[in-house]
Amino acid sequence: MNPSLPQLSLNEIAERLQGYDPQALSASHVNAFLAQLVQPVREQETVALMQAHGRILAVDVISPISVPPHDNSAMDGYALRGVDLPAAQATALKVVGTAFAGAAWQGTVQSGECVRIMTGAIMPHGLDTVAPQELVQIKDDTILIPAGLLQAGDNRRLAGEDLMAGRPALSAGTRLSPAACGLLASLGLPTVQVWRRPKVAYFSTGDEILSLGEAPREGAVYDSNRYTVAGMVQALGCELIDMGVVRDEPEALEHAFRSAAVQADAIITSGGVSVGEADYTKAMMKKLGDVAFWRIAMRPGRPMAVGRIQQADRSALLFGLPGNPVAVMVTFAAFVRPALQQLMGWQAPELPMLKAKSTEALRKKPGRTEYQRGIVGHNAAGELVVSITGNQGSGVLSSMVQANGLIVLGHAQGNVAVGDWVDVMMFDGHL
Ligand code: AMP
Ligand code: MG
Repeated sequence: MNPSLPQLSLNEIAERLQGYDPQALSASHVNAFLAQLVQPVREQETVALMQAHGRILAVDVISPISVPPHDNSAMDGYALRGVDLPAAQATALKVVGTAFAGAAWQGTVQSGECVRIMTGAIMPHGLDTVAPQELVQIKDDTILIPAGLLQAGDNRRLAGEDLMAGRPALSAGTRLSPAACGLLASLGLPTVQVWRRPKVAYFSTGDEILSLGEAPREGAVYDSNRYTVAGMVQALGCELIDMGVVRDEPEALEHAFRSAAVQADAIITSGGVSVGEADYTKAMMKKLGDVAFWRIAMRPGRPMAVGRIQQADRSALLFGLPGNPVAVMVTFAAFVRPALQQLMGWQAPELPMLKAKSTEALRKKPGRTEYQRGIVGHNAAGELVVSITGNQGSGVLSSMVQANGLIVLGHAQGNVAVGDWVDVMMFDGHL
């Protein structure tokens, strides 16, 4: 746990937020609240670079070496002195040797001479320019470079132009992308310090929820939330503890929450947090932790429970998501995802929003944020356009499958006319 961040109670966080109203919370209030609630995981691990993809860097990495380590040639050609190039006439130079990649060429070069050089070979001492081989005419041991095609310094890579020894290469909180892993490899670093991956326990609640493999029965639906949540948690790079479907009985719920809280850094549940819900889920959350029940000014996904569940000397974050399958995915994308990124120690850049022209009129009430499933494409003019995926019911998962983004209609926004620009949060493989 990070000692620099005090662990605040929900009441203390609520007092810090202006206009906090748990019964009508804007989406931006939810994010501001969660940013104060979440304590990043603070245990480090050393992992082999080959296993580090997607992990979060725990330390600043300072380059131990320069990359490239020497000035070297960017082309196959002839290395020369830039001062030997006259401005207005062709240059003739005598070739006195060949520099190959992998070993320094040891000879010396006089004025009027050059060295044949391969891409990546160290620039011979005193030479600063490379004439690409396709530019020159060769006659016996002399090359002729036409006037005006080459300037001093051309086609030479400078030592440290990518990474300079002693300078920062990557900062703590960076997610190790393929490019970042390659960069660490270029520095010769076989291992890397990363934050431990958060463990996220998940279970579905509700007596009407069937696990896969159970026979269908009247009034019951198969548990889809466990599969969407598992996929979204794994796409972020957290570890998932799958706790199945939990019956709507006090003993079963208490056992599930307690065992989740001892194992996990965060617990995600779905179902049982709606207003007027005749079940035990909310009561058990209240009994076992410091939990707030919110009505968020959004659609879909209005009810949500947030807080901490205590067990022995540990506590785990709690995200009690609504039951409706689309609401689960939308509340995850809007709130849980940024909160888990913070838990991971990931200084995640904000998700870029796309602007696309709506192909249809959308009804929208100011005073709540709406997330509609959209398909983004291009029109004949090459502009980005977005259309909604038919039935926008909060239980209609097929609309999420067809969509490639969520149209985000902001809190204050009213109706959208055909051709209006709207914000779209693209899925990018994570939903
Ligand atoms: P609730 O929030 O518990 O009132 O649930 C709202 C709706 O979501 C109900 O129609 C539930 O049957 C449905 N639902 C709840 N949990 C799941 C789940 N794990 N998988 C699929 N549907 C669910
Ligand atoms: Mg229910």
